Amino acid sequence: MAKSLDFFGGFKLTIRHLTRPRVTVSYPQAKRPKQPRQHGRHVLNRYEDGMEKCIGCELCAGVCPVNCIHVRGLDNPPDHPVSPGERYGYVYEINYLRCIHCDLCVEACPTQAITESKMFEFSFTNRADAIYTKAELLVDDQGFPQRLPWEDWREGEAAMTGGWMRATSPSGAAAYEGVVQWTGDLGAGVRAAEAGQNEEVRDDVATGSKALRRVFSKHLQPDDVPADLRGVAGRLNELKAKLPKRPKAAS
Ligand code: SF4
Ligand code: SF4
Repeated sequence: MAKSLDFFGGFKLTIRHLTRPRVTVSYPQAKRPKQPRQHGRHVLNRYEDGMEKCIGCELCAGVCPVNCIHVRGLDNPPDHPVSPGERYGYVYEINYLRCIHCDLCVEACPTQAITESKMFEFSFTNRADAIYTKAELLVDDQGFPQRLPWEDWREGEAAMTGGWMRATSPSGAAAYEGVVQWTGDLGAGVRAAEAGQNEEVRDDVATGSKALRRVFSKHLQPDDVPADLRGVAGRLNELKAKLPKRPKAAS
């Protein structure tokens, strides 16, 4: 008798999982939204007036652990300067056969010229395509990353590509939480301050961040769980948040 009950126990487990929400998606037809700090394909940014941010200082090339950046600076022509500095990045190349997306180049850049998008789904059939030059890395006249034929861009992957992506953004130091410490970008303007640990100065809607206490609420001590996620009321609130939002009726 006990053995036959064991047999049905297996079905019980299967049936229980049948009713749980599916966590997989049909990739690559569907992609999950990327995290705000995802490290993907680089972009070379411009200031809001269209000038290039790169000053050709080569700090990014110097810090790259796999030597995959090649930069050459040139004096700005006095009559039509390319960047606000004395020099600008005349040659800029990244070899994606070597890049490990560590973001050290982004950290080292003094002008937030080189940053990363969230798009990492790209592949090549020859070496030349894998070496991105300035022509491919520099944002277009509207400030958006250029989209090459072998790159799979989806909604949101070109968002927050500015200096915000640096690990040294203010969220680590309480005194600088909510303080913008980067210059504006062509097309996007001055990006919102990154959400920090202090809930009073968070702007999660602007940055797409989620408060860690909410994401990991199931792993916290009861007192650390946000009040609106506690107990039965909390479970109802979670369910409500998962329901698809109805479009607002036109007034
Ligand atoms: S992300 Fe890292 S490996 Fe890639 S170019 Fe920058 S410093 Fe080099
Ligand atoms: S991207 Fe930044 S670090 Fe690299 S050369 Fe240009 S200004 Fe210097």
